[in-house]
Amino acid sequence: MRIVLLGAPGAGKGTQAKILIEKYGMPQISTGDLLRAAVAAGTALGKEAKSYMDKGELVPDSVVLGMVEERLKQDDCKKGYILDGFPRNTAQAEALDKMLASLNMSLTAALSVDVPFEDLMKRLTGRRTCKGCGQMYNIYFKAPAKDGACDKCNGELFQRDDDKEATIKKRLEVYTAQTEPLIGYYKSKGIVKSVSGTGSIDEIFKKVTEVLGLK
Ligand code: AMP
Repeated sequence: MRIVLLGAPGAGKGTQAKILIEKYGMPQISTGDLLRAAVAAGTALGKEAKSYMDKGELVPDSVVLGMVEERLKQDDCKKGYILDGFPRNTAQAEALDKMLASLNMSLTAALSVDVPFEDLMKRLTGRRTCKGCGQMYNIYFKAPAKDGACDKCNGELFQRDDDKEATIKKRLEVYTAQTEPLIGYYKSKGIVKSVSGTGSIDEIFKKVTEVLGLK
């Protein structure tokens, strides 16, 4: 399957993508993860991207499009892929359509994970990640046994720079203005499948497999 994941920051797209990968073995292409890796590696691209990310703004399309195209051309994407956090605006969606047409791998589905706006704020401001193993927590919904430490490896938990409150407000505004209209864009192509993103991770995943027709 070739899937685009749609949904606000904090809707749980990344979590569902990770389970799909574990179960079905297709690669997840997360532009947020690719950009954070570039920031951590201190590359020129990473330095440019960080200034936008810290403000909650979108990184310029030219930076992101090149990164995605390079990734889609790798062999593992031949068996399908999940795009997570990309496209984020209509220009990226149109560029993606062209790219996929030339690679002969157009989209099977656009999966929209819907979560009420009030819930998103808590999900995002409460998010903490382990510096050691990357395990994710939420201080409101999935707190670690010991404050600030990972249950698995005792590593230090940190808050992503772009999960601070002011940045989150901006990210949600950017989502409403630029990314949400993509649901209409893909509806006009007849490939949107929607699931409610509230409930347990397993419940949501069950609905995801149903709407995507996966066994
Ligand atoms: P995410 O983890 O997907 O929420 O992405 C974190 C941040 O990375 C966003 O707030 C943007 O600054 C940047 N970013 C990720 N994906 C894209 C994209 N497709 N286009 C532009 N900026 C992006």
